[in-house]
Amino acid sequence: MSEEVRCRIAPSPTGEPHVGTAYIALFNLCYARKYKGKFILRIEDTDQSRSTRESEESIYQSLSWLGLNWDEGPDIGGPFGPYRQSERLSIYHEQIKKLLDSGRAYRCFCTPQELDTLRKYQEQNKRPPGYFGKDSKCRHLNETQIKERLDAKIPHVIRMAVPMEEGKISFYDHIRKEEITRRLNEVDDQIILKSDGFPTYHLASVVDDHLMKITHVIRGEEWINSTYKHVLLYSAFGWEPPKFFHLGLLRNPDSNRTKISKRKNPVSLRWFRAAGYLPQALINFLGLMGYSRYRDDMSDEEKKSCEIFSLQTMINDFNETRISPTGPAFDFAKLEDLNFSYLSQFTDDGFYQYLNDRQTYLKTYFGAYNRLFIERYLRPEKDVSFWSSFLFKHALQYKRDDFEKAECDNAKQGAEILKKFKKLLSREIETLHSADEIKDFINKVCGETGATSKQLHMLLRVAVTGSSESLPLYQSMALLGLYRCLVRCDEAASFLGSIRE
Ligand code: GLU
Repeated sequence: MSEEVRCRIAPSPTGEPHVGTAYIALFNLCYARKYKGKFILRIEDTDQSRSTRESEESIYQSLSWLGLNWDEGPDIGGPFGPYRQSERLSIYHEQIKKLLDSGRAYRCFCTPQELDTLRKYQEQNKRPPGYFGKDSKCRHLNETQIKERLDAKIPHVIRMAVPMEEGKISFYDHIRKEEITRRLNEVDDQIILKSDGFPTYHLASVVDDHLMKITHVIRGEEWINSTYKHVLLYSAFGWEPPKFFHLGLLRNPDSNRTKISKRKNPVSLRWFRAAGYLPQALINFLGLMGYSRYRDDMSDEEKKSCEIFSLQTMINDFNETRISPTGPAFDFAKLEDLNFSYLSQFTDDGFYQYLNDRQTYLKTYFGAYNRLFIERYLRPEKDVSFWSSFLFKHALQYKRDDFEKAECDNAKQGAEILKKFKKLLSREIETLHSADEIKDFINKVCGETGATSKQLHMLLRVAVTGSSESLPLYQSMALLGLYRCLVRCDEAASFLGSIRE
C-alpha cells in the first residue's frame, strides 16, 4: 500500500457519548494501527442548536478512558486542522462555490409553504418524498432570476444537483464485499448548505474526508443511504472517494433485534464507567461484536480462550476480512462475565484502586446530584450502592409488597395507571429537562391516569427504582433518564399484570 492509511471517527457532540461511537472508533483504530496509519478524531458540530462543548469534552474523556487514542483532533491539532467543523465554514464556502460554478449545485429559494405543497402533492400521488430535480423550480432559474432573489435577500439553501438521467450510482462496500447500487432517480437533491451558512453532514463530511486525506471510511450501516449522495458529491468535485466499510449496528438481543438506543438501554459511555465496567472489559466486549477471532480448526477450549484479549492483541492480529456485516447483539450478560473475569484477576491492591477510581468517578457522574447521596450516606445501614443501584442494574427485581404501598384497589389497577402514565410521558418526553419539570409534569397529568397523587408517586417510585424507599422521585427519574423510565413503567406494569390475586 503506497499512501498512508488514514481512518477517522466523526462524532457529533450532542448529548451523552454513545457506546456505538466507541465501537466504531475501535475498528477504525485497529485498522489504522495495523497498517501503521493515523486515526483521526473530527468533531461534527454543524448542528449548532444541539452541539455542546460539554458533550465534546465527554467524548474526549470517554474515548481516552477506553484507551482509544487519536493522532489528530481538535484538542491536539494536526496537519489538516481545524478538526472541529464549526471552525471550517470558510473552507466549505470555498468548496461549494466550485459546485455552484460547475452547475453541480444550485441555490434553492423555496419557502416552507412551497415545500409543504410539494410534500402533499407527492403524498397524494404516491410518489416518494424528497426534493427531486424534476420537481424543482429553483434548479432551472436563470442568472437574472437568481440575482433578483439574492438582491431581495430571500433566504435560501444550496442543494446538490443530482444528474437527471437514467443511470445508477454505486460503491463497493468492503464489509459486505459487494457493490451496492441505487438508481439515480431515487436520489433527491439534498441540501448541502443550510440557510444559516452551515453545511449539512453530507457536504462537510465529504469535504473534510477529502481534505483530511481520509483513505478508509469505517462507519455504521445507518450511513449507507448517505454514501450514495457522498459518492455523487465526490464525482461532482472530481475527487477520488475513499474506501467504504459499513459496520453492522449494535442490536438488542431481543427477538426483533432492534438497534440499541437510549430508548431501551443505557448507551452512554459515562454510564458504563460509573456502573463499574472496566475499560478493558468494554473494549474486549466491543471487539467481539461482529468480529470473529476464531479459526475453524480451533477446539472449543481454544475458542473460549480466544475470547479474552487486550486492545493491543486485537490490533496485532486484526483482520478486516473477519468483520461480519450482520448487526451483533449487545448482550449485557456477556459483558458482565467479561467484567467479572477481568476483576477476578486483580490483586487486592488493584481491586482497591478500582473501587477508589470508581468512587471518584461517581462524583463527576452524579454532578449536581451528589448532595442526594451524601445526605443518605449519613445512615450507615444503607450505603451509596443501596441508593444508586437502580441506576446501574440492568433489570430490576420487583416485589409485590413494595407496590402494595401505593394502596391501589388491586395490582391490575396499578398496571393500568402505569400504562396510562407511560403514554402521557411518551408524548411530552422531549420537553422535560429537569427534575422540576418532571415534578410539574407528574402533578399535571396525575388526574388523567385515574390515580391519586399518592398512588401515582408510589407506583412510579417502585417502578423506576425497584423499591418503595429511594432517593427523591423526580431526581431519580432525571438521573435514570426518562427513556429508561418509560421502559421501567412497562416492565412494572407487566409485573403487576402477571400477579394473580
Ligand atoms: N456525525 C456522524 C455520527 O455521528 C458521522 C457519520 C460518519 O462517520 O460519516 O456518527
